[in-house]
Order: sequence, then structure tokens, then C-alpha cells
Amino acid sequence: MGRNKVKIVVLPLVFLFVLFALFFLIPVNKCKARGVNEWSRRIYDRNSILLREIPSSEYFVSSWTPIDSIPEYVLKCFVQKEDKRFYSHFGIDILSMARALRQNIKNRRIISGASTITMQTARIIYSLQQPKLIRKILEILYSIKLEIHLTKREILEIYLNRTHFGNNIYGIASTSETYFSKSAASLSLKEASMLAVTLQAPSVYNPIVNRRSSEMADALLKEMASDNIISSEEYGRAVKEKAEANKEKLKFRLPHLCDRVIFELKDKKWIKAFTSADCALQEELEEIIKTSLDPLEDMNVTNGSIMITDSRTGDVLVMIGSKEYFSDNIDGQYNACYGMRSPGSSLKPFTYSLGLLNGYNASSIIMDEPTYFKEVWGDFKPENYDFKFHGPVTLRQALGCSYNVPACKVLDSIGVDKLYEILKKMNFDMHSKGPNDYGVALTLGSMSVSLFELVSGYSVFANKGCQTSPQIIDSYMLENEKIIRMKKEKEKRIFPEWTAFLMGDILSDNNARIPAFDMENPFKFKFYVGAKTGTSKNYKDNFAVGFTDRYIIGVWVGNNDESPMVGVSGMTGAGPLFRNAVMTLSKYYNIGDYPSTPDSILKTEVCSKSGKSVSNKCREKYIDWIHISEISEKCTICGNETKKIQRIKYPDNGDVFVIDRDFDLKRQMFEVIIDGDKKDMTLMIDGNVVKERGEDKKIFFNLKTGKHTIELYSDTLLIDKVIFLVQ
Ligand SMILES: [Zn+2]
Repeated sequence: MGRNKVKIVVLPLVFLFVLFALFFLIPVNKCKARGVNEWSRRIYDRNSILLREIPSSEYFVSSWTPIDSIPEYVLKCFVQKEDKRFYSHFGIDILSMARALRQNIKNRRIISGASTITMQTARIIYSLQQPKLIRKILEILYSIKLEIHLTKREILEIYLNRTHFGNNIYGIASTSETYFSKSAASLSLKEASMLAVTLQAPSVYNPIVNRRSSEMADALLKEMASDNIISSEEYGRAVKEKAEANKEKLKFRLPHLCDRVIFELKDKKWIKAFTSADCALQEELEEIIKTSLDPLEDMNVTNGSIMITDSRTGDVLVMIGSKEYFSDNIDGQYNACYGMRSPGSSLKPFTYSLGLLNGYNASSIIMDEPTYFKEVWGDFKPENYDFKFHGPVTLRQALGCSYNVPACKVLDSIGVDKLYEILKKMNFDMHSKGPNDYGVALTLGSMSVSLFELVSGYSVFANKGCQTSPQIIDSYMLENEKIIRMKKEKEKRIFPEWTAFLMGDILSDNNARIPAFDMENPFKFKFYVGAKTGTSKNYKDNFAVGFTDRYIIGVWVGNNDESPMVGVSGMTGAGPLFRNAVMTLSKYYNIGDYPSTPDSILKTEVCSKSGKSVSNKCREKYIDWIHISEISEKCTICGNETKKIQRIKYPDNGDVFVIDRDFDLKRQMFEVIIDGDKKDMTLMIDGNVVKERGEDKKIFFNLKTGKHTIELYSDTLLIDKVIFLVQ
């Protein structure tokens, strides 16, 4: 043989050898093998409950489950059905191939493909769709390649996670969830065998359409028992089991919250998102928001929203953006948690917190009287919700009853810019305006805010003065299966701990709000809950925002088209819904503990007349919290009075009298005692004048069961009001 001839024969052989060597040696792209781009995107709650599944761009429903989480007997069913010698062959099963060839020749057509699990996996990974003979050759080559680079378990894992189970559902994870409403890990032997028989022809043998599914599964189980793959006991149990397959709809829970997740991750190539949401809690509240608001439709209340967050972590537990997501009438898909609305009085706690930092105490006396504030646009004269003024009130009462003049006075004395700066620091949108554009009305709700911002702001009261920003997403998984943790914003110190503590003490004090809210009101709890309402001037919006020692609960009611509600206040609108939200939260989480007392604050005797720490001349006193630096600031009014302060001394707000049935009712009475020169005053009980101005007589009250109101007027100025109860 000449040298040239050798070359002609050898060179192509060498070339072919190199080609094959390269083909078999280049590693398998595992990411491609796992078919990541075909996975559906999934959103989970804090307890790994699937909230939403978004099919892939080809509308495949598919997700990945590690083989280690699939029970061995499930794997055995598939190996038995599809490829008995899977663990012993090298990608190709020569025995069954020979048998298939014989059958095909005998029948003169291809009726058996003898595809091993490895060959089927190769077909899936490399999308082999060539004519049959070429495809078969490629399948064999790729199978050998897979067997070189992957373990048997890796091949089986890819196969089970990517094979088609009918109805556009791929992989055992999505399949068991859709057909049996459970994870692949909890499939029974019977259910697993029903899925295994599906693969022969998924569109006709899947258990949703195949009426013989159970029968076929039993046949497979029988074969497994006689091959000693399963015991006869296991077989006996499995054939007795009645497994029902149902096609579950694609998950679409907590709709607004999931919409928000998709929005926040819109620039990321994510396949899984892990949120802080609490599905069970939110779904209970989704029902409650409907049952609470439906009766208010006559008052033109069509919508509402709820947010609950954990102030220690910033976790958003609940985000309900409307009463009914699927209602077009109320524009239900819009997430009202982010709607910009007038907060009414709900920013007042920030004003008073600044007040406490600037020399005010809870007991400080502030005059509620007609007052003009000079603003850049002219004079501003705030009114109260009851169109009355209430004379000298403590800061505690002024906030509890939400009187407007005292809030404006406090803000005016410390400067609007202070409130403006603190709101800005807490990430409120200031709408490109300056402090003077808002004026003191900033504390009455002249700036639009969202429920999200309010809940974020109120975290300072639930978290010892530090703000935590609400965050829905904990982490997410990228297409390359890398998990990215969301960066948590560092908590911000806004107020000292004692200020937040005192604000919590006031906002949880039911007695402080009785004159405005009555004795029984939605904000009276048997445990610690601070709360504040806010109603916009024209009744378009009604907020109730509150907190426990850890959680923040925010509620808004109103209309998406901004039409005004009719006759709705915090008592009837957001209040009852807020109460329901708190009570529901208490079923899921431990709430209600009173916050620990900071060192810089203590309870001491304060003077009723000056609101300061008592001097030896003070006679009217009670106990309240005071900052230690204020203890030495003693009362200077008592002993130097020129004019006495007038108020109802007895009874007190919230007093309860009990009628003694053994005695004559006519003799059961008490004297209403008034401090100061009562001659100047008009006294009313339950709306009836009992003492005119100028009269100087003792007033007795005969006990009658029910709730009673005593009001003290100087001219038309309401100076004091007491509500008490007789049982
Ligand atoms: Zn005094």
C-alpha cells in the first residue's frame, strides 16, 4: 500500500475519531439540561405556600424539585414502567432494542421504539425532532454522552422534572400539585403509579381524561409486586386506595401583593420569589374586608385596603389593595395601598412626638379655642369635627379626641419645618413642596400620603422610635438558580425610645378618647393597641392606623373614584375594619404585650391645672408619665392663681355607677361637682340644660341606667365633657 493510500484512509478516520472524542468529552450544559427557561415563575408566602404560578412564555407549567425530595417508591414506579434495566445499561438497552427490531420487522412498521429513560432525556434536552431513523441515532449518541457526564440519579432527576404529563404540564412537581394538590414528596404509591402510566401517551393517559387510569396503575403495581420491587403488603394497600385526580386551576392568591412582586422584579430574570406574606392571615382578612364594607354601600363606601407589617423586620404580612380584585365596578385591580390620599388627622402623632421632644408633656395644658394662624396665603382658622371648642385640654386628651386647634398650636410653636423634615426623613413623598406651602395644616392632612407611607411611618411607634421600611420580597431565585437576598434597608432612628413609648401610651388610652369617641368604640381593646384615625375634610378618605408592640395595622376606606362617603367617620368606616384586622392578627401572632418602660421616663404626680410636676401648693393632681428632665419643672400656677380653671371635677370620664336594687331608687344620686366659678357656667346633662348661666345651685344626678353625658359651657364654648355609665 502506498503512503498516499494510507493517508486517504487514515486521515478521515483520525478526523472522525477527534470529532467523536470532542462530542463525548465536551461537558453537558447542566443549566440547559434542567430546562430553566421553560419553568413557570412562582411566588411563595412566608410558609412556602404557592401564591401564584405564571406559566413560561410557551405557556408551560413546570417547576423543579430535587430528586432527593421524591420518595424512592415514586422513582421505582417510573423506572419499572419506562426502563426496567435503567440502572444497569449505558444509555442503550441492547436487549429491548433487539426485541423491538424483531417486532418492527415482523410487523413491517415501527411499533416499538425501545427508548430508555436516558434516550428520552436526551430527546428532551436536545429537542431532537429529526426523522425517526436519524433521531434514533442522535438519541443513542447523546445518551452515551449523558451517561459519561451525569450520574444515573441526575439523569432520572432531569427526566422526571421535564417530561410531559399532559395538559401542558411538565415535570413531576407541577404535575402532582395540579393533579393531586400535593407536592411530589407526598405522592402515594397509587398516585405515583397513575402518573407513571401517563407517560406512554400523556394526552390520553393522564389521569384527568383517562378513565382507566386506576386500572392501568394497578397493572403496573402488580408487575412491580411480582418483580419484588414492592412488597405484597404495599401492593395490597395501594390497589385498595382510591386516588382521585383533579385539575387545579393555576394559583392566583393574594393578587395585589403578587402584582407588586412582579412589578418590583420587572428588571430581573427571576423564576421564584419568596415573600414575607402570610397567606392564611391575608385570605381571612380578604373575606372580612368584604363582609365589613358591604353593609356600608348605602353610605357610598365601595372600597378599602389593609396592610399589616412587622416593625422588627419590615416584613409585609398582609397587603390587600381593594375590596374585590376582580370587580371592575370599583376598579378592583388598582392597589389602593399606594393611592395618594388626604390622611386627615393621622399625621398628628408625629406632630405631638415632636412636641414631647420640645418641652411638652402628656399632661401639658393646651387651650382649644378659636385661633388664627398666619400662613403665606393668609389667615387659617381650624375648626373641630364637632364645630365646638373645648377650652383647656391636656395634650393627651387633645390627641385622643383629635382636636385640631391644639395640634396646630403645638406645630406652630415648634415650627412646621420640623414636622416637614421628619416626614421627609421617613421617606414620605413631599410632592416637591416646601414647609410653608403646607403651613400648620400639614398636621391636619393638607399633604397627600399613601397607606403604605403611613404604615411605614407608624413603625416608629411599634419599634421603639426606629423606622423599618416595609418589604414584601425576602429573596428571589434567578434563572441560573442563584438565590439573591433582598437588601434590607437599615432601620432609622426617628424618635428616642421614650417618645415612642409615651405616644403609644396616649394612643392606647381609651379614657383619653372617650369625649370624642364614646366609651365603647372600635379602638378599645383588652390589650395594648395604639390607634389613630384620620378622616379627610370632605369625607373622601377614612384611615385607621395602629400598632402593637411589634405589628403595624393600617386600614383605609373610601372610593377609587374619590367620590365622598356619606356620614362615615373613623367610628363607622375604617374603625370596625381596623378592629377586625387586629383581632384576626391576634389569632395568628402573639400580640398585646405592653412595651417595656424606657429608663428616661417615669410615672409621677402631675398638677391638673398646670400639667406640670406637682408643687406643695397643688391640690388637684393625678398620675402620668413624665420625662425625667421635666420632673424638676414644678407647677407655678397653684398659689398664684388669678383666675380659676373651670371643669367638671366629678364624675370622671369612664366612671361606672351601679344601682343598688335593694334601696329606693330616688335616693340614689350624686352631686355633680364643678371646679371654678360655676356661676359663669351653663351645665347640660344628656342634652338638657340643668343650670343656666347666673344660677348658683347644687346639681344632683339621679341614677338612671344607661350612658350619660355632662357638658359644661362658658357662653357657647364647650369647656368640659364627661361621659359615664349607670348599670
Ligand atoms: Zn399646680
